[in-house]
Amino acid sequence: MTKHDNLIGAEWVSFGNYQDNINPSDISDVIGTYSYGDASSVEAAVEAAKSAFPAWRDASPQLRHDVLDAVGNTIASRKDEIGRLLSREEGKTLAEGIGETMRASQVFKFFAGEALRQVGDLQASVRPDIEVEVTREPVGIVGLITPWNFPIAIPAWKIAPALAYGNCVIIKPADLTPGCAHVIAEILHECGCPPGVFNLVMGRGSVVGEAIVTHPDISAISFTGSVATGHRIAETCGRLRKKVQLEMGGKNPMVVLNDADLSVAVPACVNGTFFSTGQRCTASSRLVVEAGIHDEFVEAVSKAMQSLKIGDALDQATQIGPVVDATQLNSNLDYVDLAKTEAAEVIGGERLELAAKGFYQAPALFVGTSNDMRINREEIFGPCGSVIKVADFDEAVAVANDTEFGLSAGICTQSLKHARAFKRQAAAGMVMVNLPTAGVDYHVPFGGRKGSSFGAREQGRYAVEFYTTVKTSYVFAG
Ligand code: NAP
Repeated sequence: MTKHDNLIGAEWVSFGNYQDNINPSDISDVIGTYSYGDASSVEAAVEAAKSAFPAWRDASPQLRHDVLDAVGNTIASRKDEIGRLLSREEGKTLAEGIGETMRASQVFKFFAGEALRQVGDLQASVRPDIEVEVTREPVGIVGLITPWNFPIAIPAWKIAPALAYGNCVIIKPADLTPGCAHVIAEILHECGCPPGVFNLVMGRGSVVGEAIVTHPDISAISFTGSVATGHRIAETCGRLRKKVQLEMGGKNPMVVLNDADLSVAVPACVNGTFFSTGQRCTASSRLVVEAGIHDEFVEAVSKAMQSLKIGDALDQATQIGPVVDATQLNSNLDYVDLAKTEAAEVIGGERLELAAKGFYQAPALFVGTSNDMRINREEIFGPCGSVIKVADFDEAVAVANDTEFGLSAGICTQSLKHARAFKRQAAAGMVMVNLPTAGVDYHVPFGGRKGSSFGAREQGRYAVEFYTTVKTSYVFAG
């Protein structure tokens, strides 16, 4: 069994306490064993980062560019192997695993370019003979805490901007998926990232995560994960006056109007709701459908859903892999039972026993639901979607926005008027027209409103807001 250690400074460090990383497609397959740290491990990482910070802060943008560019190239050159590891540890299909790996490569390459494009403002002062300069500086040592559902893309879209703008990093990946973050650490190390600039500490959220959030020398926390953990982290960061960025859950609506082209709407809804086993914060979990197209839509979506091939993530024929672990599977099955209790018609959703022992579930469609049911208020985070019938566009918008979340919202329509109105009225950070609610570009901002997100946006040039702090300098040149 391969043992994997933590990267602290220039060293691979074992903290003992090895935990097995299990394949959810086949629980007899142990991917590797990973050394989990504790608060003292975080302390060691902070010391390494503190030593490295001054030189990295002042490093030539060319050096930062070259490291990030090399990381992006290396990830791309190893996409099949890393994508396979990703699918093996998280359970998304091989095509999705390789696609996500390529996304991580693109993100590193984008921010390699951003390292060279750091600009400031030179302004005339309101006083004579004085120049005012507005520049951006790194915030210092940043703590990155990531979830299991995008085990390489999310670490990449936090690490790459953090390093591009001159910060040092301590990352704690999700307990369930340490493998991909470990590979990124190996690649950064090989690609000449100076010792201590990037540190990996694996371990439990309640131990390593808490230690990162509360450490006085870590200046900023970027977190992606559940609402409950996010709120806890925000409270601590507020108390400690720490910069914080949270990306949390979703209950994303996909509106389907009477004039929708079903050859567009059905694949968009099936993709958005069920692909990646529904384990996407941007998943279309509420399908808000106008009455005139409702029956035809439900029939087409349930037919397409039932034809999806569920199986081992590494099988090329598989379209929907397993649920990530037993806890998430049991939670999903409880929601299927709840849907029945709440008097929805439930199509699919049952536990599947396949040849390999894994956490398999048939996708579920809940029909005849109303927006006040718990299945439509709480994030399920599994391959489950609800259909909510509405009378017209205005009711569709009202239902779409009637949620504590606000990450992504979609509409399928052939009406330019309704598409434009929806773009303006949707209370969400991202809006999709005739596209799945999930699936985004890497060079533009990602994030939501209300209970889904807090703080500055991630990705694209907007990432500069979180990973830098502004300095205003006055120079008397008289
Ligand atoms: P989670 O349980 O909140 O865990 C997220 C991360 O926080 C993990 O690394 C976890 O460590 C750590 N953590 C747990 N308790 C902590 C604590 N007290 N202090 C500091 N860190 C702590 O979420 P998850 O189940 O991994 O991910 C699923 C959630 O992520 C869903 O709600 C989904 O919507 C959301 N998500 C949001 C986005 C977005 O961009 N909006 C993207 C993807 C996922 P352990 O793994 O050791 O528990």
